[in-house]
Amino acid sequence: MSKLVTSLDAYEVWFLTGSQNLYGEETLRQVAEQSQEIARTLSESLAIPVKIVWKPVLKDSDSIRRMALEVNAADNVIGVTAWMHTFSPAKMWITGLDLLRKPLLHLHTQANVELPWAEIDFDFMNLNQAAHGDREFGYIQTRLGVSRKTVVGHASNPSVQQQIGTWTRAAAGWAATHEMKLARFGDNMRYVAVTEGDKTEAELRFGVQVNTWGVNELVDAVDAASEADVDALISEYISLYDVAVELLPGASRHESLRDGARIELGLRSFLEGGGFSAFTTSFEDLGALKQLPGLAVQRLMAEGYGFGAEGDWKTAVLVRAASVMGAGLPGGASLMEDYTYDLIPGDEKILGAHMLEVSPSLSSQRASLEIHALGIGGKDDPVRLVFTADSGPAVVVAMSDMRDRFRLVANVVEVVQPTEDLPKLPVGRAVWRPAPDFATSAAAWLIAGAAHHTVMSTAVGIEVFEDFAEIARTELLIIDRDTRLRDFQKEVRWNAAYYRLAQGL
Ligand code: MN
Repeated sequence: MSKLVTSLDAYEVWFLTGSQNLYGEETLRQVAEQSQEIARTLSESLAIPVKIVWKPVLKDSDSIRRMALEVNAADNVIGVTAWMHTFSPAKMWITGLDLLRKPLLHLHTQANVELPWAEIDFDFMNLNQAAHGDREFGYIQTRLGVSRKTVVGHASNPSVQQQIGTWTRAAAGWAATHEMKLARFGDNMRYVAVTEGDKTEAELRFGVQVNTWGVNELVDAVDAASEADVDALISEYISLYDVAVELLPGASRHESLRDGARIELGLRSFLEGGGFSAFTTSFEDLGALKQLPGLAVQRLMAEGYGFGAEGDWKTAVLVRAASVMGAGLPGGASLMEDYTYDLIPGDEKILGAHMLEVSPSLSSQRASLEIHALGIGGKDDPVRLVFTADSGPAVVVAMSDMRDRFRLVANVVEVVQPTEDLPKLPVGRAVWRPAPDFATSAAAWLIAGAAHHTVMSTAVGIEVFEDFAEIARTELLIIDRDTRLRDFQKEVRWNAAYYRLAQGL
């Protein structure tokens, strides 16, 4: 049994400094000292959520090659930053960069902020030459086609720290997809296209293992839930949520809440037993489950499990990655579906929800736990959490399988409050305004062939997904305030050619 971990605490990024032996002992001693100082500054930055670990200065091909192998082998090391304090002839980096299998950030910085104009002599110039040392390093990375994030500026600059912090979150998302085992209960919703995909390619591209189990294996785990555990979970529900009176112990529909609790206990034990961090369900394939899992899925998502409905494993991968990338930040990540529109001209809004499965991590309000009829699935009425997502900036991201590769599409949005109360809508929901405007956003989404399921993240923004896509070497089409439809359409076409060429034969 392994409990899900959604935290960045154990992760490290190694801080690599490049130089060469030409400079002599005294200069190399200063290089080591100053690079440790920079690593310390980054490590103490609140904007960077993982440990930054300084490593001894790299001065030749062999030590660079060994460092790459060491980084690859260490599970808790999610990436490296590299900075050429002096001039590090870049042919020394070829083998190491070619071997490196972890995310790379090229930090173009220097030890000092201001130039000591009156003091500068050639010793100073000799020591502080990242301005061209890093250009040599940029050349070899580009020549080798190394994907990386490039960050420019002094380590004390908040924007530099922010960019590095964002990239470490993306690297953690990348680590999370490589640790990810995803359990599908039942297959894809019949006849649906966009939720299909190449699970074999996904394991190569993102490292995720996607496999399917018959839903009755889950049913066995649900049936194994003990009455004492059900009682304890009911108490937890009562302490955390406004539980509808009819669901309370002794009330007419209490048994339905107990069924919901059993589903949660069964799902949890199945997922923990198999070391899964993401899963899907399918309302067409519920076997002997009494209800479509709603409450259980919502609570597991809020803990960091990835989830996709109707067999949608691609969105489940994104939900899990987004949860890890946003760990420790306010807000959350959830399965979301564009449901219906408010089309008042100039004030268009999207109402997003799902049948049941929206994560309460999107809301800081106390959710209510309710039971309502649900025709879909043909089972007993399911219990579910009802709430409205908090206002604020968010991003929705979808993944489509384009036959020869995956495409990510992201829209920057602003979550707002519903224009009026929604007393008759018994599901978790979010209302948002998409950038740059409704018509452009929706048209771009349709042109991109982006899915109707997304992950909505209110914890991290578009930058994290940009870094994630770069690490994953996966196309990301962004719809934000700068999007112009004509250019977007061209980008879609150009990308189709680029990504096919970039794969080689
Ligand atoms: Mn759906």
